Amino acid sequence: MQKIVIATNNAGKLREIREILGDRFEILSLNDVGLKIDVEETGATFAENALIKARAVFDLCGIPALADDSGLEVDALGGAPGVYSARYAGGHGDDGANNALLLENMRAASDRSCRFVSAVVLYRGADDYLTAYGATYGTLLYAPDGNNGFGYDPLFFSKDLGKSFGRASQEEKNSVSHRYRALTNLEEQLCE
Ligand code: IMP
Repeated sequence: MQKIVIATNNAGKLREIREILGDRFEILSLNDVGLKIDVEETGATFAENALIKARAVFDLCGIPALADDSGLEVDALGGAPGVYSARYAGGHGDDGANNALLLENMRAASDRSCRFVSAVVLYRGADDYLTAYGATYGTLLYAPDGNNGFGYDPLFFSKDLGKSFGRASQEEKNSVSHRYRALTNLEEQLCE
């Protein structure tokens, strides 16, 4: 089976990617290949950031690298937190603080429509990479609902599932998630 290394320090993402692509690839973590890096996300778009992360990891270990850059876009906030989803409240990856700030900023908003979006890049060398996108739609709750998943999951009421991602099983979330849709699109491109 072909090896790919997943360019993320986010355990939630790694777990989801492993479940979605584990039949097709031998999935390696950064830890598995002995890399300890935190790539600075300087891109203006999800796709640029995914490319930056995948390329950095490939350049260091020479193994095809897959990166996801993803986040939550809220219509009433003009698409924020968007590419700043992981560091919305300042510190990188502080889910509790991010969720609290988002609820505060949305306190008076009646339009709660939002979507998770994901761009994934599989980087196999200079000029040899694929980019794919996925999105999933829902509404932002007024308070967290459920403890499953990670990040903004407890605040996201999924249109497809009729429940919050915080209450969805991993299997349910993976059947409709932005990441699943992006990775499925990537697989389609690999089959072309
Ligand atoms: P990245 O690692 O820079 O792509 O940041 C992704 C951030 O977006 C995470 O830290 C979460 O805050 C948010 N995010 C992305 N995907 C999900 C998801 O599936 N559920 C909940 N939050 C997510």
